[in-house]
Amino acid sequence: MRFGDERESSNFEDVTGRSGGGFGLGGGGGNALGCLLPMVASRFGIGGVVVLVIGYFLLSSLGGLGGGGGGSLVPGTQQSAPAGKSTLDPNTAHFVRQVLASTEDTWSKLLGGKYQPTTLVAYSQGYPSGCGQAQSAMGPFYCPTDGKIYLDTEFFNELSQRFQAPGDFAQAYVIAHEVGHHVQDLEGTLEQAHNLQARGSEAEGNAVQVKVELQADCYAGVWAANAKDSQGRSVMEPGDFEEGLRAAEAIGDDTLQKQSQGVVVPDSFTHGTSAQRMEALQRGYKSGNPSVCKF
Ligand SMILES: [Zn+2]
Repeated sequence: MRFGDERESSNFEDVTGRSGGGFGLGGGGGNALGCLLPMVASRFGIGGVVVLVIGYFLLSSLGGLGGGGGGSLVPGTQQSAPAGKSTLDPNTAHFVRQVLASTEDTWSKLLGGKYQPTTLVAYSQGYPSGCGQAQSAMGPFYCPTDGKIYLDTEFFNELSQRFQAPGDFAQAYVIAHEVGHHVQDLEGTLEQAHNLQARGSEAEGNAVQVKVELQADCYAGVWAANAKDSQGRSVMEPGDFEEGLRAAEAIGDDTLQKQSQGVVVPDSFTHGTSAQRMEALQRGYKSGNPSVCKF
């Protein structure tokens, strides 16, 4: 991607020096358990603790990633460490802020000035989000309760090494997907999805979730198609889009399930197959018009 000296977003919080806090277990009550606005609530136990999964993840939040209990947001006590020095790489911070600024400019145009920017919180290892304790193992996510994106930029390394999807556009796709959830939030789609999920079975709820995720992928493609620098030139370079497709392929539910458990259980899909994710990203990119990203 070619961002040159394009502006950085100011809707960015670096809490890496304050995060790293432990697992916020227990608690109960409090804000986190009270956040019943649009969210995916699926219950499952980790060590006897009932856990609410809240938020919209880039990856399948149930069993996608290794690591004990990875993929769960745990409502409970806030355990952030005392403020310290940022551990965020300045080049990464610069890139993330430029991508975020580009999504702001693009979506403001596409939504006719009605776009309200989201804030991206860069954390490290663990941090209390409005949806419970953010944990690196669950990958980036959007929390509808506080309207913020949570990202441990360590995920970019994972993307290039473990998922074999290197490249700056692969990283930008991650951010643009989460911004896509924010757009859905503004459009009322997340709330609509939550209401549908509340009425249906678990499998039906998962199917709704897949639609939410594929629309966010499609929106990421729409952003990329419209992302321009201040001279009006596209910021995309040859090969960029292929990086995004590789990332979308690597984080499809079928691919992740094959890797982690050897078998594929379509009813449990929450994000769509690799083929569906690639198709959604491509559809948005080819058209550049958000109307092709139907929920
Ligand atoms: Zn998502």
